[in-house]
Amino acid sequence: MKEKANMSSKEKTLFGKDNNPSNILPQKYTLDDKIKFRCHPGVSCFTECCGGIKIVLTPYDILMMRRRLNLSAPEFLHTYTQPTYLEKTDIPGVAIKLNEDGRCPFIISKEEGCRIYTDRPSACRYYPVGMANFHEGGSEEEKASEEFYFIVKESHCKGFEEDKEWTVREWREDQGVDVRDRMNKEWMEIVMRRKSFGHQATLSEQAKRMFFMASTDLDQFRKFVFESTFLDTYMIDDETIEKIKEDDIELMHFAVKFLASSMFGTQDLKIHEDKIKDKIERMKKEQEETEQELLSRGKSELEGFRAELNQKKQAGGGNN
Ligand code: SF4
Ligand code: SF4
Repeated sequence: MKEKANMSSKEKTLFGKDNNPSNILPQKYTLDDKIKFRCHPGVSCFTECCGGIKIVLTPYDILMMRRRLNLSAPEFLHTYTQPTYLEKTDIPGVAIKLNEDGRCPFIISKEEGCRIYTDRPSACRYYPVGMANFHEGGSEEEKASEEFYFIVKESHCKGFEEDKEWTVREWREDQGVDVRDRMNKEWMEIVMRRKSFGHQATLSEQAKRMFFMASTDLDQFRKFVFESTFLDTYMIDDETIEKIKEDDIELMHFAVKFLASSMFGTQDLKIHEDKIKDKIERMKKEQEETEQELLSRGKSELEGFRAELNQKKQAGGGNN
């Protein structure tokens, strides 16, 4: 039978190092280094770590979980999530809403583990192996050479006492972490980039709403792309348009590019300068026409008022 829940510990975060460094083993691991660990329904602590924890969800997590549960984004968000801020930034996101007893709503039982195991969120897959990357800005090659792994070892976790040894690479593959890394990478980079700004700059309310919508509700984001002036504003090639019409994963990556471009001015999406100019010209013209109309309406009302006043004066003179 497939092993079930494999969860991160209380302090484990989605974005990087644990905020309890005492649990991090003082050793750098490469993909080929071996670790001894196994989580399965036979461990005495099984599902213990699926509670009292904040599990932040990425756009890909949300998509996979709601597909699994056959729910629309609003239904899923309302039932299973609560709002949070991402990585101490002002960026809004969601985390799993725990039950009143502080346990994850997806636990079936201590014996049976997780109800959505094969589609469990990214944070639930990472423990106990974290990844660190010091130079976010380097080339792909530089980044790869500067990545290393570290082990988070919680005292309550009995997985380390199990007799299973494998390389970090094998373990990551088994947990589906590589796919998650690929799916989450650009979105997480936006959050980390935003975090690096500190608290000096604040996002506008509109930008926050857009980030939340594009990250949590792809149906709504698709409507925004196809039912607003979006395609008049941005230069999107036909192939991309066709892909994002139907394919949620393509749309998710596209949404992240759009967010990066609107939040940090990256050149991922190019603006239709000529159409924007036309639009500004049109708006200017409309404004001028409105002003003209108001002016002439004002003039004729004034003339009417004067004429009425004159009439009254003349009528008053006649009475005298
Ligand atoms: S989603 Fe599954 S693996 Fe993750 S905390 Fe909940 S029950 Fe555990
Ligand atoms: S072995 Fe570790 S990861 Fe697995 S259920 Fe126990 S505490 Fe959680």
